[in-house]
Amino acid sequence: MTSTEGWSANGHSDGGARVLFSLPPRPGLKSAKLTMLRTAKRTGVLDALRESRWRSRRLLILAYHGIALTDEAEWSPELYMPVPAMRERFTMLRDGGYNVIPLRDAVARLATGTLPPRAVALTFDDGTHDFLAAGVPLLREFGFPATVYVTSYYAAKEVPVFRMACRYLTWAGRDRQIDGAGLVAGGGALDLGTLDQRDAVVEAIGQYAASRGGGTAVETACLRLLAERVGVDFDAFVTEQRLRIMSPTEIATLPRPLIDVQLHTHRHKVPLNGEAFRREIGDNRSALGAWCPGAELDAFCYPSGVTDPRFLPWLRDLGIRSAVTCDPGLAESSTDPLLLPRLVDSWRLTRLEFEAWLTGAGALLPRVPRRRRYRPAAVYD
Ligand SMILES: [Zn+2]
Repeated sequence: MTSTEGWSANGHSDGGARVLFSLPPRPGLKSAKLTMLRTAKRTGVLDALRESRWRSRRLLILAYHGIALTDEAEWSPELYMPVPAMRERFTMLRDGGYNVIPLRDAVARLATGTLPPRAVALTFDDGTHDFLAAGVPLLREFGFPATVYVTSYYAAKEVPVFRMACRYLTWAGRDRQIDGAGLVAGGGALDLGTLDQRDAVVEAIGQYAASRGGGTAVETACLRLLAERVGVDFDAFVTEQRLRIMSPTEIATLPRPLIDVQLHTHRHKVPLNGEAFRREIGDNRSALGAWCPGAELDAFCYPSGVTDPRFLPWLRDLGIRSAVTCDPGLAESSTDPLLLPRLVDSWRLTRLEFEAWLTGAGALLPRVPRRRRYRPAAVYD
């Protein structure tokens, strides 16, 4: 940790997943922005914005993915928050007088103009086991409600998420060259030194597993072999439920109404074919409905933040009342509830930048252009 602004991932730019924010911020623009924010803080502009009528008409939805239980934040600072960083964020919300309310209420109150001042809603994507292990205790402690968007295929299978686990394990072996026999077609030596090399290896491993019929038995055998080659104890990896989606039993026992379980597709993908799209949400809804009887499953999170205008009528037909993107911004009454902006918080965001987003200033500042914001290959495929 080198930043004086708080939790920052400077020095950990070689994240393994590269799903969001795949390009590092341009230092010039970032430092100019931070200078502006420091001035805004010192002169009371941030405080004034936080208390403004402008902010009271807007909702900030925060998005999180994983909470690091071991070295995940070092592997992927875009996707994993260390527990102390998460605690710091929650403390800032509490001490700043922010009203953290359930997303369902927030969306309804946004439409009727009855939001409380300084409104914030918390969301967590994917439903990984670390959410239960580290996120829920923190949410309970602070009394913050949250929505968790759960993708159900690997939840039902109760095995590590294959692609994610491949990415993590190849990162764990980043100082090695490993034997590819049994892992990739043709075998041979596999270099894991750079992110591009690891991406290529993960792709080759995925193709080889698919060529052998795929499925969780093939995938798990492949992960075990890969773990051996990179020197990771796979039995411990499994026992600690690393890179796993919560099991059906765990999902069923999440404290309600503090935690609202909602839709994220069955296999973490949004097909452009209407029938396949509906099936993804239908399968997800059936699974979550069985695990959470009585839950009103009418909120959706686009996997990997991928949106398309064609999805909107399909979502309306499916009775979806809100859908969240990964486009940064604050929602206002005119925002389409099926295209709600969210700030994807990450370890890369300094304490000052986070505060700026809470007050609303973050939405007013020029953004660092990103050539490739999303790579739609987040969790499963
Ligand atoms: Zn996701």
